[in-house]
Amino acid sequence: MQVSSFQPPPRTLMGPGPADVHPRVTAALARPTIGHLDPAFSAMMEELKGLLRYALRTDNPLTMPVSAPGSAGMETCFVNLVEPGDKVIVCSNGVFGGRMRENVVRCGGEAVVVADDWGRAVDPQKLEDALKAHPDAKLVACVHAETSTGACSDVKTLVELAHRHDCLTIVDAVTALGGSPLEVDAWGIDAVYAGSQKCLSCTPGLAPVSFSERALAKVTSRSTPVQSWFLDLNLVLGYWQGNDGGSSKRSYHHTAPVNALYGLHEALVMLAEEGIEQSWERHHRNHLALRAGLETLGLELVVPEAERLPQLNAVAVPGGVDEAAVRARLLDTYDLEIGAGLGALAGKVWRIGLMGYSSRPENILLCLGALGSVLN
Ligand code: PLP
Repeated sequence: MQVSSFQPPPRTLMGPGPADVHPRVTAALARPTIGHLDPAFSAMMEELKGLLRYALRTDNPLTMPVSAPGSAGMETCFVNLVEPGDKVIVCSNGVFGGRMRENVVRCGGEAVVVADDWGRAVDPQKLEDALKAHPDAKLVACVHAETSTGACSDVKTLVELAHRHDCLTIVDAVTALGGSPLEVDAWGIDAVYAGSQKCLSCTPGLAPVSFSERALAKVTSRSTPVQSWFLDLNLVLGYWQGNDGGSSKRSYHHTAPVNALYGLHEALVMLAEEGIEQSWERHHRNHLALRAGLETLGLELVVPEAERLPQLNAVAVPGGVDEAAVRARLLDTYDLEIGAGLGALAGKVWRIGLMGYSSRPENILLCLGALGSVLN
């Protein structure tokens, strides 16, 4: 068999994720692998947890990366917090709300879906109506930044409503973290999961999660065991927290992806150097620049202005344009990746991501120039 090393083509990633990875992160990934129970590695893990708390704006002791992609962060929240028979209200305004519903059903829970149009934020009034109609609901789940449409929901208000009706909350912050204001403690979010590959400028494959004391109390007082061995926080914590709650007694649970965690640590160090608020501002500033350029090209964003995400811009495909052919030409001619529409928006939009290290003026200029030349 003739084989050779894989050399990826040089791409600029301006789709829904992964985003461009910062060279400091790729350099960190290449550092020598050490044992995942090595005291030096444990010290790095403690620092990593602190950096994640900074990024998520939380003091939750249970804040750590799950060793798997964002979807595993989602499953970690649902399998630990939903017991068979539990009623869960799922706010769904795109692909990822739909996946939350799937998770509830697979956990043996009863999902009550509050549906909103794709391309719109979740309507708090609809959630309030559902909470009144289902006083036995135990949880409310929603997506902060719906990557499939570019809509940003008002998580602060949704969480407030859920708490008023005595429900815990699960928030998907996979695309939000680092790109949009997210205040886990100030908003009272009970369980949140994110992803490494979007606004953190890191490689895919890790899912930061954070659980409040109230959420953790629910996990530790379950009457049924968590059906996933790998994602059962009661077991994972033996590794990430140590059984005594400290780092001194870490025990083997699974072999942590050592080098991937170096990468996430580096990405979070960079985020702390920039400042989380400055990162939100950069994403917003670059979104405005992209929007101005798109308007000059005669292109329109589909999400109403007040509900737009800065890091994911859904652009209406002009009539008569073959959207797939445009994406193919951008990739072939300019090594530029933008995303297609999904589900209800398939064929109707392009999704232009400005996430993390991809959210830079030079990327905006490349994208606008390339789009302009392909469309004219
Ligand atoms: N939730 C949202 C909002 C996402 O955008 C994604 C991925 O794009 C996921 C969950 C799933 O993350 P992953 O693809 O890393 O499993």
